Amino acid sequence: MAIRKIAKLGHPILRKKAELVPLSALQTESFKRILSDMLETVLDADGAGLAAPQIHISKRIVILDIDEFDGFQVWINPQITPLTDEHIVTFEGCLSVPGMRGAVARPDHIRVTGQHPTGDSFDIELEGYSAIVAQHECDHLDGILYIDRADPRGLAFMSEYKKYSSIIMESLFTEEE
Ligand code: ZN
Repeated sequence: MAIRKIAKLGHPILRKKAELVPLSALQTESFKRILSDMLETVLDADGAGLAAPQIHISKRIVILDIDEFDGFQVWINPQITPLTDEHIVTFEGCLSVPGMRGAVARPDHIRVTGQHPTGDSFDIELEGYSAIVAQHECDHLDGILYIDRADPRGLAFMSEYKKYSSIIMESLFTEEE
């Protein structure tokens, strides 16, 4: 196991569409090594999730810690389908965009299909915070960062976010005259 270096905003790997993982790869040592390194890296960085491109591996793998499950879940080749037109706006952060938070609107209820590292397929529905984390991580697999989806007026450095998050949020919903 090893803690990998996290790719930061501006690194081209974060903008590439990641490759599908063939199911035949799941039993290989190199694949298992990627998973253990992803786990060690996300724990070290104290993140809620990590996508393989963030450690310079352009494959469709995410690891995430959401309420529905005990501990970190690994998803291989995940696909997301929104199940509602209702969006919720929350502040997101990203290990690849350190020191910032940004308000992003995303569908509140989604379906996720994919495979577990065992090769077994899953098909789940998520709502609220878990749906947000899942969409953020899976966006990484298509080269999309949360800042792409954020209203620029909803971006803030961490210290300003801590002081002004409610004012920032309010400003996004106030019609300009
Ligand atoms: Zn991220």
